Amino acid sequence: MRVSIPSGAKARVHFAAFAAVRVKTLTYQSCPFKTSTYAKVPELGIFAIINTMRTVLTADRLWDGHGLLHRPMVVIEDGCIASISSRANGELPGEARVLDFPGATLGPAFFDVHIHGAKGHDVMEATAEALCAMGGFLAQHGTGSFLATTVTAPLDATLRSLSGLAKLLAQPAVAGQARPIGIHLEGPFLSHAKRGVQPPEHLLAPNIATFDRLFDAAEGRIRLMTLAPELPGAAELTAHAISRGVRISMGHSDATAAETRAVIAAGAISATHTFNAMRPLDHREPGILGTVLTEDELYAEMICDGIHTAPEMVKLWWRAKGPERAILVTDAMSATGMPDGEYQLGGFAVQVANGRAMARGVLAGSMLTLDQALTNFMEFTGAPLELALRLLTVNPALMTGLGDQAGSVAVGMPANLVAVDEAGKLVGSVVNGEPVR
Ligand SMILES: [Zn+2]
Repeated sequence: MRVSIPSGAKARVHFAAFAAVRVKTLTYQSCPFKTSTYAKVPELGIFAIINTMRTVLTADRLWDGHGLLHRPMVVIEDGCIASISSRANGELPGEARVLDFPGATLGPAFFDVHIHGAKGHDVMEATAEALCAMGGFLAQHGTGSFLATTVTAPLDATLRSLSGLAKLLAQPAVAGQARPIGIHLEGPFLSHAKRGVQPPEHLLAPNIATFDRLFDAAEGRIRLMTLAPELPGAAELTAHAISRGVRISMGHSDATAAETRAVIAAGAISATHTFNAMRPLDHREPGILGTVLTEDELYAEMICDGIHTAPEMVKLWWRAKGPERAILVTDAMSATGMPDGEYQLGGFAVQVANGRAMARGVLAGSMLTLDQALTNFMEFTGAPLELALRLLTVNPALMTGLGDQAGSVAVGMPANLVAVDEAGKLVGSVVNGEPVR
């Protein structure tokens, strides 16, 4: 056996060396934020970090976020993509775990910019336990990254959650778990008229000082904020938030077209769950919705579960926004992946039955996962796979400016990939180097 122990506590030892000495692999007690597998070497009485085993993914095609590669060979080491090549040009490397997905297309893992919770937990809990439960579940559904999305709550509670989330987001990625790579602040600067289930007593008028308190509590990790354009001060707050690196998405709004355009002029770049919690389309006053659908540069989210928006309207949205600006999100809440019953969204109770989450007679988030959103979208619109994949990968990455962490498959990036069949059905998922499905 060849084991070399460099100075310092961490020994890096090749996996093959351990195989020969009956190593006991330890399961980390608290699953959050381990980056390596720890193993005990009985003969030496030490704990060591094992280099992650080399994994090779093969399939019929790879869509890397830009173009197609046939018969791809993606080599993963230490949770990151080490190389990408075609099998036509080389043999499989030795000493590797090979995962083949015959007939499938490999693509970037999904990036959800609007998700509140899953598996019985809400991001507002801001605990490692909550993010761990969510991360494991989301990874099994092809999501590699997400923006932890808050709901409107008492200001103090929101500040507490943001400060907890900031600490958790600073931790390294965990193999096999989707990672929160930023925060989406949904509220408190929303319209009373289109608040949905957001509690009215905690909605606030746009205010730069309040925003700064939220931003600072989150240690600068707010990447996206939903705001209603018609509120007084919305354009000023938009310009200010953008100066701090936050993208503005317009939503929960009864805005006129003129009010919407004023906030677009201030720099807003997206729309939150198009059609939902928005002034309906009117042919004389196009309002926020008519503006969102016709402003070509604007990104626009869609909850494509067949419940929040009828398939015909998904088609209309797709025709309007196209493959460069459409973004699929879940808006999933804590009941996602759980049986029917009563759950929490932020601080209020939501009843879940037959795939619908309701609070006081209004839809309250979804039970959707992004793998299901992809197949629904392809079925509703007939869009081809390479275009459809953009909506959960490249587009959210470009909109949020987080393309260095999510949305494509490239050497040096975290190894977050999905394998999907022709209909977009998920057949494989690898998150931070770990195959989870
Ligand atoms: Zn939401």
